[in-house]
Amino acid sequence: MEPERYATQTLLPEIGYSGQKLIRASSVLILGAGAVGSHLAGILTRCGVGKIRLIDSDRVEIGNLQRQNLFDEHSVGILKVEAAAEKLLRINPGICIETVKARISSFAELLDHAAGMDVLLDASDNQKARIMLNQVALRLGIPWVHTAVAGHSGQCACFCLSGGPCYACFMPAVSENTKLSDAQSSGILNPAIGMAASLSASMALKLLLKTPPDREVLFFDAWVPEIRRMELNKDPHCRACSSR
Ligand SMILES: [Zn+2]
Repeated sequence: MEPERYATQTLLPEIGYSGQKLIRASSVLILGAGAVGSHLAGILTRCGVGKIRLIDSDRVEIGNLQRQNLFDEHSVGILKVEAAAEKLLRINPGICIETVKARISSFAELLDHAAGMDVLLDASDNQKARIMLNQVALRLGIPWVHTAVAGHSGQCACFCLSGGPCYACFMPAVSENTKLSDAQSSGILNPAIGMAASLSASMALKLLLKTPPDREVLFFDAWVPEIRRMELNKDPHCRACSSR
């Protein structure tokens, strides 16, 4: 398990040698290899997550380099999943990186890619993907970590823990057509991506270590700066999870 590579991480009482073995035996799916997705993949690769399945259909553009920290000028024009996989395996060749070059458009397709994973990570830029992730997570009984960033602020939360709230409990009115602020409309601060990915990666590691994060949403601002916590409870009338 390359003890030297993980020596400082295994010193942490929250992880230790047994926790590192758990992390090594784990698999995560990251939906999206843009700013948040590539940053998350970088963190989890360095931490030694055994298998990372990365899904994206886009190619790297010059305008991505301001915030998509895995990529450089040599990546421009290359599929993000391919550029990411090459970089991630240079960082840590001892793990498995799986790439899916596709824009997921159906529940069945996502279900197929998510089956067998330990944690699902939202690094998407649209509500349709998040609603699908929530449905897939509920169906498979897999927790997922939601991350959203706009400007210099954003939010992170873990949904679909056993008996816990789901995304629809948190956002009951949201639909596939709900428009989001994105990098093109609101701009985006690179450090906000780092903050979001760091908070969400910690949630993912806690899930992999079987010490789940609290049932709450973290609202952060990387400029002010601040982090606010809001407790989140399961909605007994939730249209997505109340029958489960
Ligand atoms: Zn719910």
